[in-house]
Amino acid sequence: MTGTGDGDFGGRGVPGGLPAPQLRLRQALAAWVEAELDTPEATGDAAAVAVFRKLARRGVFRYAAPRGFGGVRRRVQARDLCVIRQTLAGVSPLADTLFAVQALAAYPLALAGTPAQQRRYLPRLAAGHDMGAFALTEPDAGSDPAAARLRARKRGGTYVLDGRKSLISNAGLAHLYVVFGSTHPARGGNGLGAFLVEAATPGVVVAERLELISPHPIGTVAFEGCRIPEEQLLGAPGEGLGVALATLEALRCSVGAAAVGMAGRALAEAVRYARSRSQFGRTLSRFQAIRFKIADMATELEAARLLVYQAAQAHDRGDTGMARQSSMAKLFATEAAQRIVDQALQIHGGLGLVAGSVTERLYRDVRALRIYEGTSEIQKLIIARDLLGGS
Ligand SMILES: Cc1cc2nc3c(=O)[nH]c(=O)nc-3n(C[C@H](O)[C@H](O)[C@H](O)COP(=O)(O)OP(=O)(O)OC[C@H]3O[C@@H](n4cnc5c(N)ncnc54)[C@H](O)[C@@H]3O)c2cc1C
Repeated sequence: MTGTGDGDFGGRGVPGGLPAPQLRLRQALAAWVEAELDTPEATGDAAAVAVFRKLARRGVFRYAAPRGFGGVRRRVQARDLCVIRQTLAGVSPLADTLFAVQALAAYPLALAGTPAQQRRYLPRLAAGHDMGAFALTEPDAGSDPAAARLRARKRGGTYVLDGRKSLISNAGLAHLYVVFGSTHPARGGNGLGAFLVEAATPGVVVAERLELISPHPIGTVAFEGCRIPEEQLLGAPGEGLGVALATLEALRCSVGAAAVGMAGRALAEAVRYARSRSQFGRTLSRFQAIRFKIADMATELEAARLLVYQAAQAHDRGDTGMARQSSMAKLFATEAAQRIVDQALQIHGGLGLVAGSVTERLYRDVRALRIYEGTSEIQKLIIARDLLGGS
């Protein structure tokens, strides 16, 4: 088993097996990722930009846009996004993050953009000429995005944006922000619009940069009297929350895919170590306690993978009811990955904690997946609402 967890897709006729285009993508990308991205962990903006450029040259962002606007397939395929995230995440969580955020910025444009907006922005995002960002969260609106209060006032042929967006990936690096703001605060979530804001627009201010436990460019962006032409409204007025939720619904399963990538790497490391380390005169792999751990890890990983690719397939077929499947995939895969990474570290004993080791890095990297694009608790609310109704 390699670091990217190859051989884990089953045959083509097997439930959850990938169709040929995605299998080819997986194989080609896995070799490239191991050759180009399997380097010591790098932090800082320069490292993020360097990795972003590598991904752009490799053409991966083209899978986040439709054909005709610089993309590869006629419609964006969730299975492509999942394959890419799974393959990147086990080796370079920074690359995975950069890819994920580019997809988060491109998807709303593909979903709700006018032809003019799509022609202007999608090819640049797909080629990696521009870096995108998705700005929904606010200091007082995290799990409850309908509470977003960034104000978007209509003034003649323009909108003027005032407010703050917090925990925004690519803050300070992005060229284009997809910003969700309120045109009619009294209407709550139904008063939100989505806006395309170029980073160079006067009034876009990077108010704060944050250091997380794992490399991830992120911070707070303030919009201070930021005036944009009305043509920068994405979708109709009042449709912003719908655009945001549809984007998250489609892409959530890809967070699960990143979890599968990290868990696959953790399992591979644990198997390798259990075979090589001896105590009490035998290798760890001979102890039943270790064998059972490995069996549990592999079983959870397989279940996670099946849920993720089932949800992705539902998206690609255009199934209604994809929201529950996508939430289940994210919930199960990210929670399982946390357990798998923890067990992999346990199997490594004290060496598992050494800074710079793969297990230590995975232990930090996997944590964010249970929080962004909706926490595990929010995924449970979505699943329960689908089954029971209510809010
Ligand atoms: C690495 C990372 C990258 C991110 N990137 C972006 C980005 O690019 N763009 C963007 O817009 N946002 C981004 N975010 C923000 C992310 O989406 C939010 O952190 C997330 O939605 C949770 O919001 P919060 O942090 O405000 O937590 P809160 O909403 O304050 O929640 C705190 C705790 O309470 C729980 N909770 C809240 N409401 C309920 C409820 N009704 N029932 C039960 N439990 C509840 C939550 O599950 C959580 O455990 C990012 C976050 C991280 C960590």
